[in-house]
Amino acid sequence: MPAVRRNHRADVLPVQESPPPWGPAEIRSLRDRLRQADADERGRTEPAWDLIVVGAGIAGAGVARDAALRGLRVLVLDARDLAFGTSSRSSRLIHGGVRYLEQGELGLVYEALRERRLLYKIAGHIVQPARFLFPAYRGDRLPLWKLRIGLSLYDALSLYRSHGHRVLRPAAARALEPLLREEGLRGAVTYEDAVTDDARLTLATLQDARRHGAQVLTYAPVVAIRRADDDQVVELDGGLRVRARSVVVAAGPWTSERLLGVAGAHLLALSRGIHLVLRAADVPIRQPLVVQAQKERRILFVVPWGARTYLGTTDTAYEGDPAASGVTAGDTDELFALIGKVLPGAVLGRDRIVSAWSGVRPLVRDEHADPGDPTAEISRSHRILETADGVIAVVGGKLTTYRSMAEETVDRVIRRLRQRGRLPAGVGRCQTHRHPLVAGEPLSPLELQSPLLGDLAQRHGPLARGLHARIQADPRLGARIVEDLPYCWAEVDHAISHEGAVHLEDVLRRRIPLALTDADLGARVAREVATRLVTAWGGSAADIEAELQRYREAMRVETGRVLAPC
Ligand SMILES: Cc1cc2nc3c(=O)[nH]c(=O)nc-3n(C[C@H](O)[C@H](O)[C@H](O)COP(=O)(O)OP(=O)(O)OC[C@H]3O[C@@H](n4cnc5c(N)ncnc54)[C@H](O)[C@@H]3O)c2cc1C
Repeated sequence: MPAVRRNHRADVLPVQESPPPWGPAEIRSLRDRLRQADADERGRTEPAWDLIVVGAGIAGAGVARDAALRGLRVLVLDARDLAFGTSSRSSRLIHGGVRYLEQGELGLVYEALRERRLLYKIAGHIVQPARFLFPAYRGDRLPLWKLRIGLSLYDALSLYRSHGHRVLRPAAARALEPLLREEGLRGAVTYEDAVTDDARLTLATLQDARRHGAQVLTYAPVVAIRRADDDQVVELDGGLRVRARSVVVAAGPWTSERLLGVAGAHLLALSRGIHLVLRAADVPIRQPLVVQAQKERRILFVVPWGARTYLGTTDTAYEGDPAASGVTAGDTDELFALIGKVLPGAVLGRDRIVSAWSGVRPLVRDEHADPGDPTAEISRSHRILETADGVIAVVGGKLTTYRSMAEETVDRVIRRLRQRGRLPAGVGRCQTHRHPLVAGEPLSPLELQSPLLGDLAQRHGPLARGLHARIQADPRLGARIVEDLPYCWAEVDHAISHEGAVHLEDVLRRRIPLALTDADLGARVAREVATRLVTAWGGSAADIEAELQRYREAMRVETGRVLAPC
């Protein structure tokens, strides 16, 4: 039985050591509770929530965690799954952003490097430092001397708390990475940044919010937000209304006039970025690699990922539904051409692609900028704004800086609640930098020697112990879902019972990244996973077929591949 600590506000749920289960029973019970709250609304004097967060991407997750840790009663609503949007479609880097140095955004780089340091501390199991290799070739826009100056500044902005950069001669660079083109190589710089799993970082953040009493409901699209006396009423698709003392909109690229009124009009410029996943055997690089794209004034990344390597990204102005951005042949050819110049020995070709993903950046428009400027030039800083009705929104920014963005947003919420005399008693200061996302003792070196436990720990942190115990009780759960990838069946069951998965794609795309790494996008095991999911929900054979059909459609939209019936 996990130990339970009490939160300082009597009406806030107790804090538990592990996040409470998050399966069909809990999801149904929350839906019932919201229906009840709606039915009660007219007679109520007090709303059930202090804060509703619209959007369960990394920004919304961060706000929810920050607010819940301070003692606010929080409800998060997402139109689809958690991290459905940009937060499962990034380059998966926790980085200061070497590129932003060139744009003079020293403040952003400083903040991002500070947050990287904090994330090592609070999310060490899924934010792993890595040594990046940045080569310079004759004629490159960023020659070796500029890289050296830039990375010296990067070290300084990190307050010299990471392993500093090193400058390598061409022979040393090729010894480190034999795949690098030899011709024209002037040398390289190595420096530290970090790699993560964006969707699981979002999940872990939400789970910690839940552990501190927040409630999260996915597949709950918000269609309107209106002021009612001193509160806000959020209306869900289907007519359900939920009342709260305050609302934060964190809808990423969906942030619009519909949610924010005039404050949301023309706020964002959207930019699409794609990534391609190949077998590690086709692109056998040894460490993350940075590649310069000359004309585009951008840099690209090639990142080893176990049995796979991924490449990205593009930066193209985008209009339309962020959920349907997809990967075009033009994107693929552009990436292959740029990467192929630096890694001539890599086997790059459309027929070698294992999977792909496409994300849309919600970039905050600069009113003074020329609308014709490339999106790569638009700042990655975030903005917090407030509508005339008192709805607060947070947009832009980076995965890396989500915690500090959330702190600033919740500070604003608290200020406004205090001004209106609506701040509950006992609400404290930001605590998110102090506590790990996953509670419990990190695994000891001895525990990490167990290959299975060590592997689970990289995705689940200390919660890996619980999964391992379940596997020991039923060794079938320890079997790999597909042979060449490390994920096991215990993680499928865990996603359904403890991680809020509602649909098949939630399990195969965002809890376990099979859709990104498996050669047939999980098709071989999709029926078995769908059966477990639908059984847990008490569904029928027809529901299994519906899940499979939905998954095939999601894969078609995202990767452009049409899966055979599975
Ligand atoms: C190609 C690419 C690469 C990137 N690489 C990096 C990187 O390596 N490192 C880094 O730090 N940053 C990176 N970023 C930036 C980072 O991914 C984003 O800044 C971040 O994920 C945005 O998160 P968000 O929560 O604001 O938006 P999202 O993740 O899109 O979340 C918004 C959520 O709101 C929900 N929603 C929308 N409308 C409604 C509604 N009406 N009702 C309820 N819910 C709603 C959506 O379903 C969605 O889940 C990258 C971005 C892209 C596109």
